[in-house]
Amino acid sequence: MSVIEKNAVATVHYTGTLPESGEVFDSSEGRDPLKFLVGHKQMIPGFEEELMGAAKGERRTFTLEPERAYGNRIPEAVQQIPKGMFGDIDLEIGMILMSDVGPFQVVAVEDETVTADFNHKLAGQTLQFSVEVVDIQEATPEELDHGHAHGPGGVEH
Ligand code: ZN
Repeated sequence: MSVIEKNAVATVHYTGTLPESGEVFDSSEGRDPLKFLVGHKQMIPGFEEELMGAAKGERRTFTLEPERAYGNRIPEAVQQIPKGMFGDIDLEIGMILMSDVGPFQVVAVEDETVTADFNHKLAGQTLQFSVEVVDIQEATPEELDHGHAHGPGGVEH
């Protein structure tokens, strides 16, 4: 495989930036590149769309609206939870906690209730990516069966 297409295993270095503030929210700089199976919903949709047809060694920079990134913020995903459910956790605004239905951020703490935001922290955000294609390989039958890439940078099991 010479370019990124469905069922390729792509290895990339990437830096994600919030265009408004210039803040880097995620980057593979200084660690192993990211390895993923293309076309199996491992990545946010726009990330793969923008890399289709890219060759090894190619660098692409693109901007994704929320619809093609982590989606828009959902008001219903902000919920009031009785404080008693948190036991003796030392609650702080901004902290990220895990629940049965995924991670959430504590956005307010009142006498009886805690306001929890289950939206992804990048929901509603426009994201800019700079991506360098490090390698492109054909997926193994096992990777296709599992729906993800194996090995360093992918899933190791
Ligand atoms: Zn696997």
